[in-house]
Amino acid sequence: DTIGADLDRAVAAWPDREALVDVPSGRRWTYAEFGAAVDAVAHGMLAKGVTKGDRVGIWAVNCPEWVLVQYATARIGAVMVNINPAYRTHEVAYVLRQAGVSLLVASLRHRTSDYRAMVEQVRGECPALRDTVYIGDPSWEALVAGGTPVPFPELSCDDPINIQYTSGTTGFPKGATLSHHNILNNGFFVGETIAYSEQDRVCIPVPFYHCFGMVMGNLAATSHGACMVIPAASFDPAATLRAVEQERCTSLYGVPTMFIAELNLPDFASYDLSSLRTGIMAGSPCPVEVMKRVVAEMHMEQVSICYGMTETSPVSLQTRQDDDLEHRTGTVGRVLPHIEVKVVDPATGATVPRGTAGELCTRGYSVMLGYWNEPEKTAEAIDAGRWMHTGDLAVMRDDGYVEIVGRIKDMIIRGGENIYPREVEEFLHTHPRIADVQVVGVAHERYGEEVLACVVPRDPADPITLEELRAFCADRLAHYKIPSRLELLDTFPMTVSGKVRKVELRERYAAG
Ligand code: ATP
Ligand code: MG
Repeated sequence: DTIGADLDRAVAAWPDREALVDVPSGRRWTYAEFGAAVDAVAHGMLAKGVTKGDRVGIWAVNCPEWVLVQYATARIGAVMVNINPAYRTHEVAYVLRQAGVSLLVASLRHRTSDYRAMVEQVRGECPALRDTVYIGDPSWEALVAGGTPVPFPELSCDDPINIQYTSGTTGFPKGATLSHHNILNNGFFVGETIAYSEQDRVCIPVPFYHCFGMVMGNLAATSHGACMVIPAASFDPAATLRAVEQERCTSLYGVPTMFIAELNLPDFASYDLSSLRTGIMAGSPCPVEVMKRVVAEMHMEQVSICYGMTETSPVSLQTRQDDDLEHRTGTVGRVLPHIEVKVVDPATGATVPRGTAGELCTRGYSVMLGYWNEPEKTAEAIDAGRWMHTGDLAVMRDDGYVEIVGRIKDMIIRGGENIYPREVEEFLHTHPRIADVQVVGVAHERYGEEVLACVVPRDPADPITLEELRAFCADRLAHYKIPSRLELLDTFPMTVSGKVRKVELRERYAAG
């Protein structure tokens, strides 16, 4: 179905239930109010001459207007282009040009970013850009008030409605083009898997700009009548837990580093999290120790891990409500309905036996239409059999549960031995003085690569030393996997979607 038709259904079924709450401003919308607000923005866009297939950019931090633009563009069949709020002039100009954005909706400013000043700087380089609207500015009010209630255009569920850029963890972000069918179904199945209903209140501290926020958050919620709760414009661990407490949220999202930051708040124990029952951890490898703490200390007995990628709408594997603790924490679950997965030998393409590591491939309704205007890159990622090659190494167990071993690009080869950083990270997470850890390979004269552990200590005044770390590993990890270098950090370099940029750690510490 189309996203507009699905929203109509939610408005009809739950008109008086809350759809959206913005904690920073205290604004709230019921489904009836939300549906009307979406229509006003949609009509305003039509009045500005936006037609089906036109690209509408959204360059904003998390706020209610982001969500309104998401549903309004889907209503009129415009292609929403998600633009990373961390971008600066050079990058935003690239995206505006690459996607041919004609209308841009942007934040005015956030922290040190002055979005309007940046747009004005690059306007001349973006010939397709006809119009700009700033949130919290008279131009937004004019958009909302400027429409007339004309009928919405006829749409097909296979129409492209969204260009989402990948996180840029491994290089320059790629624009995945997605249809109603792609993301609405995926949001729906993710919500089904964690048993969402109109009783649920979902705290979304992950950016809307990324599929985690706008699909697994917004679409999963609205397709089940649940409420979207925005705790802050950008991630803040204390504001997130405060929002859960105040709004009695039943579900909380985050990438692993966000949950780690919340669990490590000095006043963590003072928040009342008893309303939580479920949530999603996703986006990068979810350490078993962190998952166990989330289950035990955050009331999230039914927390789910999702595995996916922007190109596949995103989720293909997910743990279930009734999975036992080992499957819930140690795997990314089983394949979702109507999606296929296989694990292949990257060299030959042949499916490997269960229990053996290989490249994960996925197929089904969820695979993107393609990378926007980049047919060669699309052909590299999606093969003739319509399988999306993920670039991730995985093992499928006999029972169908899948473990993600790591990204092919992150594998360390030391003296001919393959080392999966994930395995070493999981082990180091069991050390009580380590809050967070990333393991990367750095060049070494004799071994080709050596193992570097980047550690965020739990107590910065009492950090672990390299000798202590090696002693902890001795006899418990094969000698070649034991880190030979240690760097202590306060935080890791991150993408806006909250993923650690290992590329940057590798570059930073490349020279001994
Ligand atoms: P880019 O493709 O631009 O380098 P990216 O791959 O990080 O960035 P996304 O589409 O946001 O961009 O992320 C998808 C990737 O995130 C997957 O390919 C996988 O490596 C990782 N990932 C997602 N979920 C999990 C998970 N539960 N466990 C391990 N890795 C995960
Ligand atoms: Mg990727």
